[in-house]
Amino acid sequence: MSKASHVASPMLKPEATIGILGGGQLGRMLALAAARLGFKCHVYAPHPDSPAFDVVHRVTRADYTDTEALARFAENVDVVTYEFENVPAETATFLAARVPVLPDPKILAITQDRLAEKNFVTALGIRTAPFAEVASPAELATAIERIGRPAILKTRRFGYDGKGQAAIRNGSDPTVAWRDVGGQPCILEAFVPFEREVSVIAVRAGDGAVASFDVTENEHRDHILKFSRVPATLGAQGAAEAVRIAETIAHQFAYVGVLAVEMFVLGDGGILVNEIAPRVHNSGHWTIDGASVSQFEQHVRAVAGWPLGKPLRYGRVEMTNLIGHEVEDYRRWLVLPGAAVHLYGKAAVRPGRKMGHVTRVFLD
Ligand code: AMP
Repeated sequence: MSKASHVASPMLKPEATIGILGGGQLGRMLALAAARLGFKCHVYAPHPDSPAFDVVHRVTRADYTDTEALARFAENVDVVTYEFENVPAETATFLAARVPVLPDPKILAITQDRLAEKNFVTALGIRTAPFAEVASPAELATAIERIGRPAILKTRRFGYDGKGQAAIRNGSDPTVAWRDVGGQPCILEAFVPFEREVSVIAVRAGDGAVASFDVTENEHRDHILKFSRVPATLGAQGAAEAVRIAETIAHQFAYVGVLAVEMFVLGDGGILVNEIAPRVHNSGHWTIDGASVSQFEQHVRAVAGWPLGKPLRYGRVEMTNLIGHEVEDYRRWLVLPGAAVHLYGKAAVRPGRKMGHVTRVFLD
């Protein structure tokens, strides 16, 4: 994958069908954006209560390993994309033999593995937290000697919202952390005393054009994103550097679509990459109501081979996630001046589950 490569996106007509792997709220908001541009969407997801099923032309409810269902899905769509990065790489590769799949499935293989992702980023000369590979309790002991404490043990695969992570503090027993993450292949990461967390939502088209939204500042509660605010308190130089990092990664992947890069900002202004999400991202939800073109529309345009938009941000924006039972307060948000309420239509409320979000734009 190199800077020079151009990926041929199909040049879709508005009545074409976009296939989406994954049926969560990201797929739902992608489908709504696609519908606005005249496209139809076909969502493929295993769970019957997938929020994206409610808003699309067609659904396939089947396992990601069901090759018959996948082959039928491929026949009925003009391009395939994902809203969920843990789609098995074999699923994406199987589909890619039949229909264009964007972004390239090879990118999934890298971003599904924290070790491969960190190696990819550091090879570009971009900083991350110091890290070490850990595959056994003995390797964990060696890694702690090298990285120091406090540190965080993270599973290489299937981690999100703080799941698959265990802290190793001064005096704590590393074998407990190893047990807590299920004794699977991990990386040990130095704890970063960051000043703030930011993200860049970048989009890249098949012809190499890129566009990034203004840098977003993110606040987490219990490892789950709670607030995103734009613009980030970062200064022009820091913001330009954050955007440069995200666009460098997008070019290096020869990426097509929206890519989110989460970063830590240090007290001295240094920027470290924490994580890459090869998809639309929660910290970009503000773009639906806060900008003239949303991250969802940019993704749809990129995978359809359409020109990217040049989004105009309407003002200072704050996005609040409605997590778990917080969603039951929706009536209060509905009457808040300037608030745009988004509910994902999930039947079951569970602690920590993202149920909706509210965006407020301040024209000051
Ligand atoms: P992750 O799943 O890697 O995105 O981590 C979830 C959250 O945990 C991040 O957004 C940070 O708030 C926190 N976190 C993750 N890694 C580190 C680290 N190396 N140092 C400090 N905080 C971290």
